[in-house]
Amino acid sequence: MQFRDLQKQYETLKPDIDQAIQQVLTKTDFISGPQVTELEAALAAYTGAKHCVTCANGTDALTLALMVWNIGAGDAVFVPDFTFFASAEAPAYEGATPIFVDVEEDTFNISPASLEKAILRVKEEGKLNPKLIITVDLFGQPSDYQAIRRIAQKHGLLILEDGAQGFGGRIGEKKACSFGDISTTSFFPAKPLGCYGDGGAVFTENDQWAELLRSYRVHGKGADKYDNVRIGMNSRLDTLQAAILSVKLKALREYELENVNLAADRYRKGLENYGARIKPPMVKKGFYSSWAQYSVLLENEKRRDSLQSFLREKGIPTMIYYRKPMSAQRAFCGMDCVKVDLSVSQSLCKRVLSLPLSPYITVEEQDRVIDEIGTWIGQRGIEEMRQN
Ligand SMILES: *Cc1c(COP(=O)(O)O)cnc(C)c1O
Repeated sequence: MQFRDLQKQYETLKPDIDQAIQQVLTKTDFISGPQVTELEAALAAYTGAKHCVTCANGTDALTLALMVWNIGAGDAVFVPDFTFFASAEAPAYEGATPIFVDVEEDTFNISPASLEKAILRVKEEGKLNPKLIITVDLFGQPSDYQAIRRIAQKHGLLILEDGAQGFGGRIGEKKACSFGDISTTSFFPAKPLGCYGDGGAVFTENDQWAELLRSYRVHGKGADKYDNVRIGMNSRLDTLQAAILSVKLKALREYELENVNLAADRYRKGLENYGARIKPPMVKKGFYSSWAQYSVLLENEKRRDSLQSFLREKGIPTMIYYRKPMSAQRAFCGMDCVKVDLSVSQSLCKRVLSLPLSPYITVEEQDRVIDEIGTWIGQRGIEEMRQN
């Protein structure tokens, strides 16, 4: 069993993907071929964002947004403590100070209450300029944008939506990557929309920012890349990746999202029978997840690790996203990033476990995962009875 079955996806899409790759090879326009602009138009149309600017990866996408807003030394950037490193790395790389915010246990996403506390603390201290909130649509579910937008407006902050895991998710009919003042995503192979290497994109409604993004991604170009009007970077999406992504975007729209949601529902129904010993992830009412991960919670670290090794022995791969909160990463040591209680994030790191999931997982595979978890729970019950 695969943790995320990219092989079966390729087998399913092979004729279209092979043809898309062959077309690029025949024309040899490996950089900035027409497939890139076609993909950008399709991504903008899908998400509902006015502009889509593709780039080399999801980390660069965040960096490009921060460059547009001139984020740097002396600025406070609010980031969830429970996320992938890049969400906090990008602002720190620009010289800003990431301020870690706790998350909600139910959704794994940034907690509006904790966010408000962190903003007030930074304002009280008066050492840093509160500038923006990076929301992360973790594991595929959009953050609570209604609450976060209210806080952002109240304190005059921008929102940067890190939709690396969120592409395909939505709240009502509004899609992920359209919630931020600028939004970003990643096309790393295992993300909801992944390519065959690295890739990323930035989304915005703002014409001026879009113009700047297009300049920054190609060496701060003016009229062309030999007319350089600002210091930028080299962060383009390859034509090959764009061609592959167009095929995959079609599959995502036509059936992948639906299938992965059916699979998530099957897990929930199967796991609910096991009661409080294992907690399936919750999707808020009116929210729709793209299920980048299916992450369950165990009662404590010992039990989580025990289930993981039990499943490993049965040939069922699982992952721990994430084992360490950002505030415990050595890279942020001495940066004065902690202003509020982060105990939910700390607890999640000890209890979270992600199960195998993809739009291509079979009912049989899922039944096996659910049954083996049942066996583990049964064995544990017997062990506990013995100890008592
Ligand atoms: C994967 C990921 C990124 C970074 O994307 P890359 O394409 O790997 O650079 C950023 N933020 C989050 C939340 C991610 O999961």
